[in-house]
Amino acid sequence: MGTMDEEKSCEDQSLPLQDSEPGSSKARTWMRRALRLVVVVLILKSTQWYLGLSTRPGEYSRGPSGSAELVLEKACQQVSPLHPHSQSHGLDAMDTHISSEAFRNASIKRLSGAVQIPTESFDDLGKIGDDKRWDIMYDFAAYLKETFPESHKALALEVVNTHGLLFTWKGENKTLKPTLLMAHQDVVPVPASTVDAWTHPPFSGFYDGKYVWGRGASDCKNQLIGILEAVEELTKAGFTPRRTVLLSFGFDEEISGKDGAGHLAPVIYERYGSEGVAAIIDEGSGFVNQWGMRAALAGVGEKGYTDVQITVRMPGGHSSIPPDHTGIGVMSELLTLIEAHKYPTQLADQNPYLGLLTCGAEHGPSFPSKLKHLLHGRQDATRSCRDRSKKDHLALEAAKDGLGTRYLMQTSIAADVIAGGAKVNALPERTTAIINHRINIGEHSTDVHDRISNITKEVAHKYNLTLHAFDGAKEEPQSIMLDASRNTLEPAPVTPTETTKLSPYSILAGTTRALYGEDIIVTPGLMTGNTDTKYYWNISKHIFRFTAGWDGESFGLGNIHTVDERIPVVSHINMVRWMSMFIRNMDQSDLE
Ligand SMILES: [Zn+2]
Repeated sequence: MGTMDEEKSCEDQSLPLQDSEPGSSKARTWMRRALRLVVVVLILKSTQWYLGLSTRPGEYSRGPSGSAELVLEKACQQVSPLHPHSQSHGLDAMDTHISSEAFRNASIKRLSGAVQIPTESFDDLGKIGDDKRWDIMYDFAAYLKETFPESHKALALEVVNTHGLLFTWKGENKTLKPTLLMAHQDVVPVPASTVDAWTHPPFSGFYDGKYVWGRGASDCKNQLIGILEAVEELTKAGFTPRRTVLLSFGFDEEISGKDGAGHLAPVIYERYGSEGVAAIIDEGSGFVNQWGMRAALAGVGEKGYTDVQITVRMPGGHSSIPPDHTGIGVMSELLTLIEAHKYPTQLADQNPYLGLLTCGAEHGPSFPSKLKHLLHGRQDATRSCRDRSKKDHLALEAAKDGLGTRYLMQTSIAADVIAGGAKVNALPERTTAIINHRINIGEHSTDVHDRISNITKEVAHKYNLTLHAFDGAKEEPQSIMLDASRNTLEPAPVTPTETTKLSPYSILAGTTRALYGEDIIVTPGLMTGNTDTKYYWNISKHIFRFTAGWDGESFGLGNIHTVDERIPVVSHINMVRWMSMFIRNMDQSDLE
């Protein structure tokens, strides 16, 4: 058990459980590495390429001022602002109109009206049709129809699984893959006990001169209404797309998305095929101010997810003659061991957080110099694959920022639910616990299951219990059972962030910098939670979880999932602007 967090080989980074190298083989490895280094240097020395370069990537150079500056191998590439070409007088007038007072007032009313419909999705909702609480979604769909008449004329609306809304705005050019914009209609419920804590009632949609208040104002009716407002204005301005635009609005994102996105995605997949959509925008990360760098985080990855249920079955009996350890005692020992063996903090090469660090090193005035040096060391290590520990040093140093940062680079373990024992004079026959894990980029749910199996094996052996690890076996007496939740999800495929040529990412980045200015750095971001996009992985490689509306001064998530959820109206108007620009920018590109 002592080998859990030992060094791993460069080739085998993703396996969390591995023995450390024995001393003699370590020496051999170092000799091999030294020899390889000599060969590489000799080859480099003999080439014009090497002699012709004043600095190699990842080396220090003297800047114009004479100060040492880091030349990073994978630079923080920023694309130029991308404004849609002017296509018609109508569209130019539309851009002016969206900036007007009249539009602002009408937009406040539209968003406020949407917030006033309490589309709460409850964990214990029954089947659609049986449970009347779903019916509020009909009111919401009717509200959209009445509020966005032009969109409902120009776009075909299909209702999927009763409340899923799929709008299709057919493009003229069938060879161009569609742009897909997403949001969810449902909101997190407001517990009755918290209603009094709200400054303004949670479903009032109150406007105080700056913010629209209420549940869903920033998660994510702002996104849904913002998309439809952009589409409505584009249709009114006479815009006709070359590239098909799809709008897909689920209705149970907050309770898994199974009935909404889980049904919408297969319809889209069937119609457009594998990777048949050019780009997907859904709710997600937004704007941060880190190391003095103002950055827009485009969520290009999501951690994975698995809950593991542990069941300890031990003989019952009278508590006056107990064994040395009851089922609860055994479970406690097991949980203590599981918590003691934290997952390593490690940054896989494809982890989007590395992109944020790289940008911070380049654009953040207060980016720590130690972190910068470690970043340099890591890039060196990545190139030569010669010292994996350099990678870990960077991850460990970066993690000092706090738990929020640590868990962008580490699989989390949280023992969240426990039950066992019924009576003080009866020994517990069945004790259960559920442990939640969010799986790090570069790792896999089987890594989590293997790790927990290995720890449990020792405890089962110690107490002479039979271990059933993820084998689907029926519970038996004197055993420990391990079961993975059905909603186990691998880390999402990481969206490419190509900027050297036109790509969905560069269009997103260019649109964002066109709207907010070039002092905004666009960087890849990682989500620790999951959005409805988890059902869309096979539809597009280019999935972005990005909340594009921003007021230029607020950072963070605007009280989502808690009391006093609200959104600055400026952010909301910018959401409309961004969506209208992104649709046109995608439309004007010939991206396949
Ligand atoms: Zn949401």
